[in-house]
Amino acid sequence: MYYHSTRDNNRKVTSAQAIVSGLAPDGGLYVPEYLPSFSLDEITELSKLDYPTLAANVLAKYLDDYTVEELLGFTSKAYSKAKFTADVPAPLVELKDGTYLLELFHGPTCAFKDFALQMLPFLLSSALKKTGETREAVILVATSGDTGKAALEGFSDVPGTRICVFYPDGGTSRIQRLQMVTQAGSNVMVYAVKGNFDDTQTGVKKIFTDKEFAASLADKGFLFSSANSINLGRLVPQIAYYFSAYCSLLKTGRIQAGDPIDIVVPTGNFGNILAAYYAKHSGLPLGRLICASNKNSVLTDFITTGHYDRRREFYLTASPSMDILISSNLERLLYLLCGSDDKKLSTFMNSLSQNGEYTIDSNMLTALQSEFSAGYVDDEHTFETIRNTFEQTGYLLDTHTAVAVAVYEEYLAKSASAQPAVIASTASPFKFAGSVLPAIGAKEDREYDDFEMLNALETTSHLTAPAALAGLKTKTERFTDVILPDEMKASVEKWLTSAK
Ligand SMILES: *Cc1c(COP(=O)(O)O)cnc(C)c1O
Repeated sequence: MYYHSTRDNNRKVTSAQAIVSGLAPDGGLYVPEYLPSFSLDEITELSKLDYPTLAANVLAKYLDDYTVEELLGFTSKAYSKAKFTADVPAPLVELKDGTYLLELFHGPTCAFKDFALQMLPFLLSSALKKTGETREAVILVATSGDTGKAALEGFSDVPGTRICVFYPDGGTSRIQRLQMVTQAGSNVMVYAVKGNFDDTQTGVKKIFTDKEFAASLADKGFLFSSANSINLGRLVPQIAYYFSAYCSLLKTGRIQAGDPIDIVVPTGNFGNILAAYYAKHSGLPLGRLICASNKNSVLTDFITTGHYDRRREFYLTASPSMDILISSNLERLLYLLCGSDDKKLSTFMNSLSQNGEYTIDSNMLTALQSEFSAGYVDDEHTFETIRNTFEQTGYLLDTHTAVAVAVYEEYLAKSASAQPAVIASTASPFKFAGSVLPAIGAKEDREYDDFEMLNALETTSHLTAPAALAGLKTKTERFTDVILPDEMKASVEKWLTSAK
């Protein structure tokens, strides 16, 4: 099966090539020629497998230049007990009658991005071999906190790869900084950059587009690559956990094969919910896909009206990983809604980059609304949902997951759906202790630091913080360099040519 660019149907590549390049040269995203299909019998068979085996079998249908055996080698390492500390990597927990939480936060960084970023390094290093590339892949990441750590964890000590993360000095929480600067691995590097996130991101973009620099490093055996969320190698691993959720319900007799279930996803870049859409169109019996946003409600407005408009105020919210105005992965859905018309899709994307908006036609809107619902809530409503859920069920939600729970409650009030629903639970509440603690009513008498906050949340909730977060306090800081934006390129060069 080939993949081609959303903006040019004639630009065909294999899945390995798509993973090596990330973005297509025309600016488009790589999409499959067709979505592979799973029969109900196959899905029933999947429900007998453990997570790594299930994931390998799902991935093999999308990434057909990898064998199931090869993928199983990767998933066994990526989703091992050493990395995912719960009984199973993606437990399904019943919140209330017929409403389930798919806990995707038991990986090394306590958020769902681990599912993709634990797999991507294996997919990438193998893709390099498959495409005849002998150079070492150098991943550069600019981060405001979470993605950097998840990428470091994934690439740490993966042969044939190196990773360098830049974060804005003083622009992350203390825990986020410690997560990065204590990272183990012989192929990792972390720099603090004097400036804000934009300066950091601009610095990385400059390095990526510096042709001379790329050529000089190519001579030394290095190839720049990126790990951002539009890479096919990040999208496909996310499809597997929707199959796993469905199979968990089958296995425990909550549903019969073929019964539809609804899916609710707290959304930013549209990656996680797009994975659910791909799963559905590959035969997984999913009903409505409910897209939940915070006060940055650009997706809710789009799904309600068909008008995408990024020209609006940007809010910093208590669910920061969803503070996004351009949902990059939406392009992959639009492409399918356009009937795979690359010219039509390009018109929308050009309008978005030039005017900051576009409007889809009524046929596309009808198709969109036949599968997606959407809603958004503000921080106050999010905190209220954390508090009420905790009081009524004893379950502690993180801020992102709480947005999804609140939006689903509003959806239920309007639609009275009788179908079971699975809500993607994207982060541990301890990762956002600073918001979760006051939400459940704990009042501090003075300003708490991050670790005091963790301890206080443990005391108030009677839960235990993940060891990966609590243990940071005593770890040794390995990376303490603070550099200027102008020094980023030289620092990368020095690190690559001196480090072994
Ligand atoms: C990244 C992230 C999201 C949003 O996921 P998208 O794939 O960008 O829609 C939601 N919650 C958490 C905790 C995240 O880290």
